[in-house]
Amino acid sequence: MRVVWSPEYEVDIGPHVFPTLKYRLVKERLVADGTLAETDLVRPRPAADADLARVHTEEYLRKIRTDDLSPAERLCLEVPFSPQLREAMILCCGGTIECGRRALADGVCVHLGGGFHHAFATHGEGFCLLNDVAVAARALLADGTVSRVAVVDLDVHHGNGTAAIFADGPAVLTFSMHQRNNYPAVKPFGDCDLGLDDGTSDDVYLHLLEEHLAPLLHDHQPELVFYLAGADPYRDDQLGGLGLTIEGLRRRDRLVFEACGRRGASVAVTLAGGYARDTGDTIEIHCNMVREAIRCASRATS
Ligand SMILES: [Zn+2]
Repeated sequence: MRVVWSPEYEVDIGPHVFPTLKYRLVKERLVADGTLAETDLVRPRPAADADLARVHTEEYLRKIRTDDLSPAERLCLEVPFSPQLREAMILCCGGTIECGRRALADGVCVHLGGGFHHAFATHGEGFCLLNDVAVAARALLADGTVSRVAVVDLDVHHGNGTAAIFADGPAVLTFSMHQRNNYPAVKPFGDCDLGLDDGTSDDVYLHLLEEHLAPLLHDHQPELVFYLAGADPYRDDQLGGLGLTIEGLRRRDRLVFEACGRRGASVAVTLAGGYARDTGDTIEIHCNMVREAIRCASRATS
């Protein structure tokens, strides 16, 4: 299985709860333990302007390109804007497009990046400048590679940007399972939104996921699923309030891969959030997802 990754994702944003070093650390741990070889890694190319423009408005893209965001827009972003951040996010959009294409070819592909689901067409917020999953979905729909896509968003935070972007189109189904009492305050309706109680346990979470995911995939029949495998439903996450364990999150990932496999849908995974008190836990949760993806991919080909 190929894995999309770039060292340029490690943007210096100063002291911050968002550990941009996680992308490199996940890659290094997986290479060190033999899960991945360096030759499995694919370097992305930046998304083209036309790709970004299928999701984001010309006005917003102009502000990003010319560093012309207002003070309010910078505040809303909650990470310091810089040309380095902009270039990393454009590269990341290209990475998720690449991940989607490789997933369709190989059944599963992981992007060690992406999942910036709080970015809207007109603005960024909550650490998210550009909505890479929306950009990738629209790119693959536009060139006819796919006709039906599902976004399965299991980050602890609701995928507000993604839900708003795809509110009016039947080609992309959006499913979000998140903590109800958490950011964002306003949660635009997706096709299926499950707001969970604080402290929700592994068993309750996995039961709800199993109950909802299979029927959604059955009804929508997506050729490709973009899976946002956020590590922040973890019980020791600084920005999350659910009660999942590291093992529970691994079972979650396995459940998603198996459900998609049963429906014949390819899966393109992005990392999304993860802010555990111990960054090592966030790394382990993301690494376990990759281990499950590889297990699933090797079973499909054997
Ligand atoms: Zn999150």
